[in-house]
Amino acid sequence: MAVVTRFAPSPTGLLHVGGVRTALFSWLYARRTGGKFILRVEDTDRERSTDEAVRVILEGMAWLNLNADEGPYYQTQRFDRYREVMRGMLVAGTAYHCYCSKQELDAMREQQIARKEKPRYSGLCRNRTEPRPGIEPVVRFRNPLDGAVVVNDLVHGAVTFQNKELDDLIIARSDGTPTYNFCVVVDDMDMGVTHVIRGDDHLNNTPRQMNMLLALDATVPEYAHVPMILGPDGAKLSKRHGAVSVLQYEEEGYLPDALLNYLVRLGWSHGDQEVFTRDEMIAAFDIHDVNKAASAFNPEKLLWLNQQHMVRAEPASLVPHLRAQLRRLGVDSDDQQLLEGVILAQRERAKTLKEMAQNSRFFFIEAVEIDPKAAAKHLAGDGVQVLAKVRAQLAALPDWTTAAIHAALNDLATSVQSGLGKIAQPVRVAVTGTAVSPPIDVTLFLLGRERTLARMDAALGSSPAA
Ligand code: GLU
Repeated sequence: MAVVTRFAPSPTGLLHVGGVRTALFSWLYARRTGGKFILRVEDTDRERSTDEAVRVILEGMAWLNLNADEGPYYQTQRFDRYREVMRGMLVAGTAYHCYCSKQELDAMREQQIARKEKPRYSGLCRNRTEPRPGIEPVVRFRNPLDGAVVVNDLVHGAVTFQNKELDDLIIARSDGTPTYNFCVVVDDMDMGVTHVIRGDDHLNNTPRQMNMLLALDATVPEYAHVPMILGPDGAKLSKRHGAVSVLQYEEEGYLPDALLNYLVRLGWSHGDQEVFTRDEMIAAFDIHDVNKAASAFNPEKLLWLNQQHMVRAEPASLVPHLRAQLRRLGVDSDDQQLLEGVILAQRERAKTLKEMAQNSRFFFIEAVEIDPKAAAKHLAGDGVQVLAKVRAQLAALPDWTTAAIHAALNDLATSVQSGLGKIAQPVRVAVTGTAVSPPIDVTLFLLGRERTLARMDAALGSSPAA
């Protein structure tokens, strides 16, 4: 049977790395097995769901390129279907109307607590045949009274729940709206989900969901409850640890593949391989190999992986990401050659694309503003003379190539008997505005002759070169 997985986020908080990892595992397993991956937005909690959270889910999944084969489905658009299934269960007797009032339920609870019993619904209305006038009933699932449910979890192994511990769950409120666990069951059934991969905070819902699926004569899927991601300090991952909207990682200059690579390694490994391309992840991932221990989020490792991915990527594939970051700094360029050249020159020097853009802004603007401290250090005294000499030398170059620029600067360094650094620094400050850039020959080559000379002239205080 073909594998069908789904990612079913509730848009009650902004999608963060924990949710993304669940999505990734579901997506990878579907891709690995040639199956289908479904996106389903579980938005039945109208009070806590927000449009902003839905937007982050959709944009986040698009940015991560975790493309769905079906969906997004929205549970709020499926209420008629839930009602239909619920009515069928009432007819079949696997669900019943419950007319107990809040006061009665409270009293039931108090008595159970007084008797030192676990509070649960007593089943008072299980066999009621007549409605109670004036009361809008809820609908409860008739959970089996005896026996046990064994969840053969792919991550946790066999987990047994006694049916007598599971009381009769409300599947529809008195206003007719379906409840969360019931919607999940109907959806997993209708969508033919074969593998439910989700956070292990849902493990306790699973026996109830399995009982309902059995009552509906539906096939019970396999379950894999993946462990939580903890903060570096071992506490539950929170905003403080970077559990921010996934889109923030885009803004901070991370590559989607690097984030996915980081997340796949939390709770899963493949030998001692750390860096995975998307295709390598698909080829190697198996949900059966996921570890049940919770893992801690390590921002340093994410940064390291991001750089690894930048260094290994085809420069052309990074261009859109760099441009997006440059636009955030108020500059842009469609000069593909320059953009790729900058990426090659900078990617060993930056851990994120945001950092790369910040370090590279000077390539994409008309004139630079010179940092006064760098000027005081490198453009005072003989710095100016050096700059003037380099300018004359470069202006006379027949070809503007990295090798020719390199040779010219070397010759000059030899002729004035100084190190290349002494020659390079005034030039660097003049053309980049700061004392830090990629190697000077590469920097000047990428800038082009015209802009190099113009910036040197500006620094020398003369009029731009003709
Ligand atoms: N909507 C649930 C959540 O966001 C997931 C439920 C499921 O995967 O079954 O936690």
